[in-house]
Amino acid sequence: MPSTPVLVVGAGPSGLNLALALARRNVPCRVISEADGPGMESRAMVVQARTLEFYGQYGFAAEVIRQGVIAETAHVRKGGPSGSREVLSISFEEMGAGLSPYPFALAYPQDDHERFLINKLKEVGCEVEWNAKLTGFVERENAVTATIEHKASPIEEVEAGYICGCDGARSCVRETLQVGFPGGTYDQLFFVADVQIAAGFSRDLYINLGEHILSLMFPVRSSGMQRLIGLVPPELSHRDKLSFEDIRAQVEPILDIQVTQVNWFSTYRVHHRVADKFRLGRAFLVGDASHIHSPAGGQGMNTGIGDAVNLGWKIANVLQNRADTSLLDTYEPERIGFARSLVSTTDRAFTGLVGEGVVGDFTRRVIAPLMFGVATRFSLGRHAMFRTISQTRIHYPDSPLSLGVAGEVRGGDRLPWTGASVKDNFEPLRSLDWQAHAYGEVNKNIETLCRELHLPLHVFAWSDRTKETGLQRDALYLVRPDGYVALASAEQNLGELKAFLERFNLRFCANSAL
Ligand SMILES: Cc1cc2nc3c(=O)[nH]c(=O)nc-3n(C[C@H](O)[C@H](O)[C@H](O)COP(=O)(O)OP(=O)(O)OC[C@H]3O[C@@H](n4cnc5c(N)ncnc54)[C@H](O)[C@@H]3O)c2cc1C
Repeated sequence: MPSTPVLVVGAGPSGLNLALALARRNVPCRVISEADGPGMESRAMVVQARTLEFYGQYGFAAEVIRQGVIAETAHVRKGGPSGSREVLSISFEEMGAGLSPYPFALAYPQDDHERFLINKLKEVGCEVEWNAKLTGFVERENAVTATIEHKASPIEEVEAGYICGCDGARSCVRETLQVGFPGGTYDQLFFVADVQIAAGFSRDLYINLGEHILSLMFPVRSSGMQRLIGLVPPELSHRDKLSFEDIRAQVEPILDIQVTQVNWFSTYRVHHRVADKFRLGRAFLVGDASHIHSPAGGQGMNTGIGDAVNLGWKIANVLQNRADTSLLDTYEPERIGFARSLVSTTDRAFTGLVGEGVVGDFTRRVIAPLMFGVATRFSLGRHAMFRTISQTRIHYPDSPLSLGVAGEVRGGDRLPWTGASVKDNFEPLRSLDWQAHAYGEVNKNIETLCRELHLPLHVFAWSDRTKETGLQRDALYLVRPDGYVALASAEQNLGELKAFLERFNLRFCANSAL
């Protein structure tokens, strides 16, 4: 084994989460970043419920929530520079109630979020190495040799078991692998601003689907400010050196605010691309290095974190000789399919919302509010919307690691949450390890096998609430370390469970509390 089992390139949300997934499982890794310190730009503002569920597994979701602002309601407005009005308000609580312990969107700027993760990493003995730039690598039989340029010291050659490119959209790892990154760039120019408003601090989220302009407003707890994100009106988008004053007259009336102080203003363009491969040999691509898309829907950072969580436990299991290396082959099919569908969905939604002319105007002013209205009027629609936006719907039905169906839950589904009114079935996920769940009775043979293999078995009393989640009474669910169901066995089939474990040579620890 090389002295560095895993080299994580990049210390954005994806790299930090991957390092955390490894370090919390006692896998040593190095995390390098070419930056000279933690990021200063807030970029991603929304932490979705699925990301909070992962943080719940680490035991720090409540801490993250305290530092952000729970956006309880989204207000949809429409109109233009001559004035606007609210057409709809959506309660996140109603949308997600019962589906997740976190039925809301959390406004938590990316820079605060990254600093939080850096501290959590430090607590488990892993420090980010700043001013350390990867310039290339070559793969040998059992390792990769990576070249790192440090600002203050000579060039270093590092032998690593695996290299993980969490190095953003211009990824050096992806370029070294010569993996294609097809897609394009939107014409529209975005603005982002941190401002104070006359009405004081607002905790809600505002979306304006106006004439020619799309704008959003979020709360930022750490600065007591509001974050404004939106499209620069087309007639200004080619002007050099834009300032907030150039767009003030358009933005204030559509969000019905008066900006009293501007602390930061910037503009940027958005790309939409998915890498052709997420893995080649001992190299993996994670987060923006493998997929980028419009920020509409607040999915980008959360998807990168989902990649990191997915890969982290698999590398840890393989390096600790607890699974066959073929486990690593499941990373790409599980994550590339979701990235492709996300890019095409956000592309379609974004193109519709920012389109010019009569069609774009009609979509913004009529179709989008109508769709929001219909989707949120019925509980099924509200739940479907929450599942999609919160990323709790992500599942891996076609993965080689997914098998069987019991009730409405299939191998590859996220384990449904049974709620806090009964014994919380997410609580055991804090072990960050494999486990078996039964809801109702468990048969003796399964109990004996789990004991012999040191596979923790959790038996939950059957209840009406459990039934509502789609889980099946007396079925057996083998749950992965990231909270997805691997095997769903309606009959608690012993042979099926044994065969599944053997296929990936899965082994468990006598003491699984990591
Ligand atoms: C304005 C804006 C708003 C957004 N809003 C949202 C939102 O609301 N919700 C959401 O989910 N997403 C949002 N996104 C997207 C989100 O910011 C990105 O998806 C996220 O930053 C990706 O994280 P990452 O860790 O994969 O990459 P990055 O954050 O880009 O991190 C890359 C890291 O790699 C390092 N690096 C790069 N090259 C090298 C090298 N050669 N050697 C060593 N280190 C290197 C960098 O220094 C950095 O540490 C938004 C993006 C923008 C621009």
